[in-house]
Amino acid sequence: MSIKLEHVNYIYSEGTAYEKHALKDICLEIPHGQFVGIIGHTGSGKSTLIQHFNGLIKATDGVLYYNGENIYADGYKMKELRNQVGLVFQYPEHQLFEVDVMKDVCFGPKNQGLSDEECEVRAREALQLVGLKEKYYDRSPFDLSGGQKRRAAIAGVLAMRPKVLVLDEPTAGLDPKGRDEILDQIAYLHKQSDMTVILVSHSMEDIAKYVDRIIVMNQGQVMYDDIPKRVFSHYKELERVGLAAPQVTYIMHELKEKGLAVSAEATTVEEA
Ligand code: ADP
Repeated sequence: MSIKLEHVNYIYSEGTAYEKHALKDICLEIPHGQFVGIIGHTGSGKSTLIQHFNGLIKATDGVLYYNGENIYADGYKMKELRNQVGLVFQYPEHQLFEVDVMKDVCFGPKNQGLSDEECEVRAREALQLVGLKEKYYDRSPFDLSGGQKRRAAIAGVLAMRPKVLVLDEPTAGLDPKGRDEILDQIAYLHKQSDMTVILVSHSMEDIAKYVDRIIVMNQGQVMYDDIPKRVFSHYKELERVGLAAPQVTYIMHELKEKGLAVSAEATTVEEA
């Protein structure tokens, strides 16, 4: 599923005193299967942007195409799009509510009208993909650790077998170990499937080593959209808008490309 946005604008509360132009003339194309990072400050428009991806909010102006089809055209099957684009919200574990993990993960496919057997097949597949062990399947989701809860919640979206998986700040609130585990798991997911994966973060470090492409949002606009190395080469401009440690990240990438081992701690860098 390729995604294309053409001159997308979004304005909250248009015509009121609270009017906010949250997205300004966004043009971008995401081919099927790409692993994309969307980065930017709080308030830069990331959440607004990704809610366009599954039609949750409709552009005030501009058009969104999936596989070349205008999703705002009359007769477009928005419900099918919602099934194909899985959105994992921030703190997705807040949406866990069933008596056990298996039932929770089955909830989405059940809503799609699948049989109990098929739901369980999909739930098992999804739970394996997120690396949650079988012994947890019949436990209450509330008895899991923070990282496990988040895995269960992500499995709930994967069980619907989306073609595009969008994760909004999947590491928010996790400790460094939990954060690395979730990111490694997401990278593994992308490798194992032909899904497009879109990872939203406000942390350059989080996404730097995983994605094929980085879209930098700033004040509702796309500031950069390129492969990580070229995005990091703008480290001065990135620092100017307050995106942390891009110079270090850039240099780490350069070294990695030259085949030199780099550790995250090796980071005292002179001004170039
Ligand atoms: P991010 O995800 O990068 O933090 P958002 O997309 O949430 O950014 O927000 C973009 C801008 O839109 C911000 O200025 C924010 O305050 C504003 N905004 C977000 N949601 C709403 C809303 N429901 N009503 C009004 N303004 C909003």
